[in-house]
Amino acid sequence: MTQVITGGCACGGVRYEVRGKLRDVITCHCVQCRKTSGHFVAATACRRPAFTLVKADTLKWYVAVPGFRRGFCAECGSSLLFEEVGGERVSIAAGSLDEPQGLTIAAHIFASEAGDYYQIDGSAPISSKGDHHVTLP
Ligand SMILES: [Zn+2]
Ligand SMILES: [Zn+2]
Repeated sequence: MTQVITGGCACGGVRYEVRGKLRDVITCHCVQCRKTSGHFVAATACRRPAFTLVKADTLKWYVAVPGFRRGFCAECGSSLLFEEVGGERVSIAAGSLDEPQGLTIAAHIFASEAGDYYQIDGSAPISSKGDHHVTLP
């Protein structure tokens, strides 16, 4: 039986399900992630066919870079999703998962754009650009 992982925003206006395994967490320190999250983004991910939006009443998409979009709740402001339009992967804010999933931070990316008020935890590989070796299940 396939495991069903659930999550959503703070107000319940957006709910999603993932059927299958999640990727380990990658933190992104790029300017866009810092602006939209208020700090930096910690995201897991799954393949698109494994992802279902169960409730999207208040989901709004924001296009910062053409071809990519961020999904957030227009009511409570939760940052939830990031995807390349038509891409194979859906990135999911790790903090929006309902239950602990045993994931760990496996890479830090865009360290060159990190804020100057914190240090990146060195327990996982750090890349100055977007490259990493974390595989998508
Ligand atoms: Zn909400
Ligand atoms: Zn980023």
